[in-house]
Amino acid sequence: QGILYIVPTPIGNLGDITERALKTLAEVAAIAAEDTRHTRKLMQHYGIQNDVFALHEHNESQRADAVIERLQQGDSLALVSDAGTPLINDPGYVLVHRCREQGLKVIALPGACAVTVALSAAGLPTDRFSFEGFFPSKPQQRRAKLEQLRTETRTVVVYESPHRILHTLADMDAVLGKARKLVLARELTKQFETYLSGSAAELLQALTDDTNQQRGEMVLLIAPLPPETESSDGPGEAAKRTLLLLLEELP
Ligand code: SAM
Repeated sequence: QGILYIVPTPIGNLGDITERALKTLAEVAAIAAEDTRHTRKLMQHYGIQNDVFALHEHNESQRADAVIERLQQGDSLALVSDAGTPLINDPGYVLVHRCREQGLKVIALPGACAVTVALSAAGLPTDRFSFEGFFPSKPQQRRAKLEQLRTETRTVVVYESPHRILHTLADMDAVLGKARKLVLARELTKQFETYLSGSAAELLQALTDDTNQQRGEMVLLIAPLPPETESSDGPGEAAKRTLLLLLEELP
Protein backbone atom coordinates (compact mmCIF):
# COMPACT_ATOMS: atom_id res chain seq x y z
CA GLN A 1 0.00 0.00 0.00
CA GLY A 2 1.13 3.53 -0.75
CA ILE A 3 1.26 6.48 1.63
CA LEU A 4 -0.66 9.75 1.36
CA TYR A 5 1.68 12.62 2.28
CA ILE A 6 0.16 15.95 3.36
CA VAL A 7 2.69 18.53 2.19
CA PRO A 8 2.58 22.18 3.30
CA THR A 9 3.78 24.83 0.83
CA PRO A 10 4.86 28.45 1.50
CA ILE A 11 2.31 31.11 2.52
CA GLY A 12 4.25 33.88 0.78
CA ASN A 13 7.99 33.52 1.20
CA LEU A 14 9.16 30.84 -1.23
CA GLY A 15 11.99 29.88 1.11
CA ASP A 16 9.47 28.44 3.58
CA ILE A 17 9.39 24.84 2.40
CA THR A 18 11.33 21.99 3.96
CA GLU A 19 13.89 19.72 2.28
CA ARG A 20 11.66 16.81 3.17
CA ALA A 21 8.66 18.45 1.47
CA LEU A 22 10.63 19.04 -1.75
CA LYS A 23 11.98 15.47 -1.70
CA THR A 24 8.48 14.08 -1.14
CA LEU A 25 6.98 16.13 -4.00
CA ALA A 26 9.73 14.85 -6.31
CA GLU A 27 9.50 11.18 -5.26
CA VAL A 28 5.76 10.44 -4.99
CA ALA A 29 3.95 8.87 -7.95
CA ALA A 30 1.80 12.01 -8.37
CA ILE A 31 0.63 15.17 -6.61
CA ALA A 32 -3.00 16.04 -5.86
CA ALA A 33 -3.24 19.83 -5.98
CA GLU A 34 -5.97 22.38 -5.18
CA ASP A 35 -4.99 24.32 -8.31
CA THR A 36 -2.73 22.46 -10.74
CA ARG A 37 -1.46 25.61 -12.49
CA HIS A 38 -0.49 27.20 -9.20
CA THR A 39 1.31 24.05 -8.03
CA ARG A 40 3.10 23.56 -11.37
CA LYS A 41 4.52 27.08 -11.04
CA LEU A 42 5.74 26.28 -7.55
CA MET A 43 7.32 23.01 -8.76
CA GLN A 44 8.99 24.83 -11.61
CA HIS A 45 10.50 27.25 -9.10
CA TYR A 46 12.03 24.35 -7.17
CA GLY A 47 12.98 22.38 -10.30
CA ILE A 48 10.63 19.49 -9.53
CA GLN A 49 8.98 17.45 -12.24
CA ASN A 50 6.05 15.21 -11.44
CA ASP A 51 2.45 14.45 -12.39
CA VAL A 52 -0.09 16.85 -10.93
CA PHE A 53 -3.85 16.34 -10.86
CA ALA A 54 -6.66 18.49 -9.43
CA LEU A 55 -8.26 17.84 -6.06
CA HIS A 56 -10.28 20.83 -4.91
CA GLU A 57 -13.41 21.46 -2.86
CA HIS A 58 -15.70 20.85 -5.86
CA ASN A 59 -14.31 17.45 -6.89
CA GLU A 60 -12.73 16.17 -3.68
CA SER A 61 -15.50 13.77 -2.79
CA GLN A 62 -15.50 12.13 -6.21
CA ARG A 63 -11.69 12.23 -6.67
CA ALA A 64 -11.06 10.71 -3.26
CA ASP A 65 -12.13 7.26 -4.50
CA ALA A 66 -9.62 7.32 -7.36
CA VAL A 67 -6.87 8.50 -5.02
CA ILE A 68 -7.67 5.70 -2.56
CA GLU A 69 -7.59 3.15 -5.36
CA ARG A 70 -4.12 4.31 -6.39
CA LEU A 71 -2.88 4.19 -2.80
CA GLN A 72 -4.29 0.67 -2.45
CA GLN A 73 -2.44 -0.33 -5.60
CA GLY A 74 0.83 0.81 -4.04
CA ASP A 75 1.35 4.36 -5.36
CA SER A 76 2.37 6.97 -2.79
CA LEU A 77 0.80 10.37 -3.42
CA ALA A 78 1.18 13.91 -2.06
CA LEU A 79 -1.60 16.38 -1.31
CA VAL A 80 -0.89 20.11 -1.55
CA SER A 81 -3.10 23.19 -1.42
CA ASP A 82 -2.44 26.62 -2.90
CA ALA A 83 -0.64 27.84 0.19
CA GLY A 84 0.21 26.62 3.65
CA THR A 85 -1.04 23.44 5.22
CA PRO A 86 -3.68 21.41 3.36
CA LEU A 87 -6.90 20.78 5.33
CA ILE A 88 -6.43 23.99 7.34
CA ASN A 89 -9.25 25.87 5.63
CA ASP A 90 -8.24 24.07 2.47
CA PRO A 91 -9.33 20.83 0.79
CA GLY A 92 -8.21 17.44 2.07
CA TYR A 93 -10.41 16.49 5.00
CA VAL A 94 -12.72 14.24 2.98
CA LEU A 95 -9.76 12.40 1.48
CA VAL A 96 -7.86 11.96 4.74
CA HIS A 97 -11.00 10.83 6.55
CA ARG A 98 -11.66 8.18 3.92
CA CYS A 99 -8.02 7.06 3.88
CA ARG A 100 -8.21 6.51 7.64
CA GLU A 101 -11.46 4.58 7.25
CA GLN A 102 -9.71 2.33 4.73
CA GLY A 103 -6.73 1.83 7.03
CA LEU A 104 -4.38 3.65 4.66
CA LYS A 105 -1.28 5.36 5.95
CA VAL A 106 -1.35 9.18 6.04
CA ILE A 107 1.77 11.15 6.92
CA ALA A 108 1.61 14.93 7.43
CA LEU A 109 4.78 16.95 7.00
CA PRO A 110 5.22 19.99 9.24
CA GLY A 111 5.35 23.35 7.51
CA ALA A 112 3.92 26.81 6.92
CA CYS A 113 0.50 27.63 8.31
CA ALA A 114 -0.83 31.16 8.81
CA VAL A 115 -2.50 30.18 12.11
CA THR A 116 0.70 29.14 13.86
CA VAL A 117 2.83 31.87 12.29
CA ALA A 118 0.42 34.58 13.49
CA LEU A 119 -0.01 33.01 16.90
CA SER A 120 3.72 32.66 17.54
CA ALA A 121 4.43 36.35 16.96
CA ALA A 122 1.22 38.15 18.02
CA GLY A 123 2.12 38.39 21.70
CA LEU A 124 -1.18 36.91 22.90
CA PRO A 125 -1.41 33.83 25.14
CA THR A 126 -0.56 30.66 23.24
CA ASP A 127 -1.11 28.01 25.90
CA ARG A 128 -4.68 27.50 24.70
CA PHE A 129 -6.26 28.79 21.51
CA SER A 130 -9.27 28.28 19.30
CA PHE A 131 -9.16 28.46 15.51
CA GLU A 132 -12.41 29.60 13.92
CA GLY A 133 -11.52 29.57 10.21
CA PHE A 134 -13.32 32.41 8.40
CA PHE A 135 -16.19 34.17 10.14
CA PRO A 136 -19.60 33.79 8.46
CA SER A 137 -20.01 36.38 5.70
CA LYS A 138 -23.61 37.25 6.64
CA PRO A 139 -23.64 40.10 9.20
CA GLN A 140 -26.22 38.51 11.47
CA GLN A 141 -24.37 35.20 11.67
CA ARG A 142 -21.07 36.98 12.15
CA ARG A 143 -22.43 38.92 15.11
CA ALA A 144 -23.93 35.75 16.58
CA LYS A 145 -20.50 34.10 16.31
CA LEU A 146 -18.89 37.09 18.03
CA GLU A 147 -21.47 36.91 20.82
CA GLN A 148 -20.33 33.32 21.42
CA LEU A 149 -16.70 34.43 21.50
CA ARG A 150 -17.31 37.28 23.95
CA THR A 151 -16.71 34.97 26.90
CA GLU A 152 -13.94 32.92 25.30
CA THR A 153 -11.03 32.40 27.68
CA ARG A 154 -8.65 31.16 24.97
CA THR A 155 -6.96 33.24 22.28
CA VAL A 156 -9.14 33.10 19.15
CA VAL A 157 -7.58 32.97 15.69
CA VAL A 158 -9.65 33.77 12.60
CA TYR A 159 -8.85 34.12 8.92
CA GLU A 160 -10.13 37.36 7.48
CA SER A 161 -10.53 38.79 4.00
CA PRO A 162 -9.59 42.36 3.00
CA HIS A 163 -13.16 42.88 1.73
CA ARG A 164 -14.69 42.21 5.11
CA ILE A 165 -12.09 43.41 7.59
CA LEU A 166 -13.73 46.81 8.24
CA HIS A 167 -17.17 45.23 8.79
CA THR A 168 -15.69 42.60 11.09
CA LEU A 169 -13.82 45.19 13.14
CA ALA A 170 -16.97 47.33 13.42
CA ASP A 171 -18.92 44.29 14.66
CA MET A 172 -16.11 43.42 17.06
CA ASP A 173 -16.19 46.94 18.44
CA ALA A 174 -19.94 46.62 19.01
CA VAL A 175 -19.86 43.14 20.53
CA LEU A 176 -16.46 42.79 22.21
CA GLY A 177 -16.07 46.42 23.28
CA LYS A 178 -13.08 48.66 23.88
CA ALA A 179 -11.36 46.54 26.51
CA ARG A 180 -10.76 43.49 24.34
CA LYS A 181 -7.37 43.47 22.65
CA LEU A 182 -7.00 42.30 19.05
CA VAL A 183 -4.01 41.66 16.82
CA LEU A 184 -4.18 41.93 13.05
CA ALA A 185 -1.38 39.92 11.42
CA ARG A 186 -1.05 40.82 7.76
CA GLU A 187 1.00 39.60 4.80
CA LEU A 188 2.89 37.08 6.92
CA THR A 189 6.31 36.00 5.63
CA LYS A 190 6.03 38.62 2.85
CA GLN A 191 7.57 42.03 2.21
CA PHE A 192 4.84 44.04 3.92
CA GLU A 193 4.35 41.81 6.93
CA THR A 194 2.68 43.84 9.71
CA TYR A 195 1.28 43.21 13.18
CA LEU A 196 -1.18 45.80 14.48
CA SER A 197 -2.59 45.54 17.96
CA GLY A 198 -5.25 47.43 19.85
CA SER A 199 -8.98 47.43 20.44
CA ALA A 200 -11.34 46.94 17.49
CA ALA A 201 -11.98 50.70 17.46
CA GLU A 202 -8.24 51.45 17.42
CA LEU A 203 -7.62 49.00 14.59
CA LEU A 204 -10.54 50.47 12.63
CA GLN A 205 -8.96 53.89 13.01
CA ALA A 206 -5.52 52.61 11.96
CA LEU A 207 -6.93 50.90 8.86
CA THR A 208 -8.94 53.96 7.90
CA ASP A 209 -5.89 56.22 8.33
CA ASP A 210 -3.70 53.94 6.22
CA THR A 211 -5.75 52.06 3.64
CA ASN A 212 -2.73 49.92 2.70
CA GLN A 213 -3.37 48.12 5.97
CA GLN A 214 -6.68 46.88 4.55
CA ARG A 215 -4.92 44.97 1.77
CA GLY A 216 -3.44 41.52 1.45
CA GLU A 217 -3.85 38.33 3.42
CA MET A 218 -4.72 38.60 7.07
CA VAL A 219 -5.23 36.74 10.30
CA LEU A 220 -7.13 38.32 13.17
CA LEU A 221 -6.51 37.28 16.75
CA ILE A 222 -8.74 38.04 19.72
CA ALA A 223 -7.21 38.12 23.19
CA PRO A 224 -8.82 35.88 25.79
CA LEU A 225 -11.35 37.39 28.17
CA PRO A 226 -9.07 38.83 30.88
CA PRO A 227 -9.24 36.92 34.22
CA GLU A 228 -10.09 40.12 36.18
CA THR A 229 -13.20 40.59 34.00
CA GLU A 230 -14.19 37.06 34.88
CA SER A 231 -13.75 37.43 38.62
CA SER A 232 -15.26 40.92 38.85
CA ASP A 233 -18.43 39.80 37.12
CA GLY A 234 -21.57 39.83 39.15
CA PRO A 235 -23.45 36.53 39.53
CA GLY A 236 -25.68 37.57 36.62
CA GLU A 237 -22.74 37.61 34.22
CA ALA A 238 -21.42 34.27 35.43
CA ALA A 239 -24.83 32.68 34.95
CA LYS A 240 -25.10 34.20 31.49
CA ARG A 241 -21.73 32.72 30.53
CA THR A 242 -22.73 29.30 31.78
CA LEU A 243 -25.97 29.56 29.85
CA LEU A 244 -24.06 30.53 26.70
CA LEU A 245 -21.74 27.56 27.14
CA LEU A 246 -24.68 25.23 27.63
CA LEU A 247 -26.46 26.63 24.57
CA GLU A 248 -23.35 25.96 22.49
CA GLU A 249 -23.46 22.30 23.52
CA LEU A 250 -27.09 21.87 22.50
CA PRO A 251 -27.75 20.30 19.08
N1 SAM B 1 -4.01 26.46 4.39
C1 SAM B 1 -3.64 27.83 4.66
C2 SAM B 1 -2.75 27.89 5.90
O1 SAM B 1 -2.16 26.87 6.26
O2 SAM B 1 -2.61 28.95 6.48
C3 SAM B 1 -4.85 28.72 4.77
C4 SAM B 1 -5.70 28.76 3.55
S1 SAM B 1 -7.06 29.86 3.64
C5 SAM B 1 -7.94 29.45 2.19
C6 SAM B 1 -6.38 31.41 3.19
C7 SAM B 1 -6.39 32.41 4.34
O3 SAM B 1 -5.31 32.14 5.21
C8 SAM B 1 -6.18 33.84 3.90
O4 SAM B 1 -7.40 34.45 3.51
C9 SAM B 1 -5.66 34.47 5.18
O5 SAM B 1 -6.69 34.73 6.09
C10 SAM B 1 -4.78 33.34 5.72
N2 SAM B 1 -3.40 33.49 5.19
C11 SAM B 1 -2.78 32.70 4.29
N3 SAM B 1 -1.55 33.17 4.03
C12 SAM B 1 -1.38 34.28 4.78
C13 SAM B 1 -0.33 35.23 4.96
N4 SAM B 1 0.80 35.12 4.29
N5 SAM B 1 -0.53 36.25 5.83
C14 SAM B 1 -1.67 36.37 6.52
N6 SAM B 1 -2.70 35.51 6.39
C15 SAM B 1 -2.56 34.49 5.54
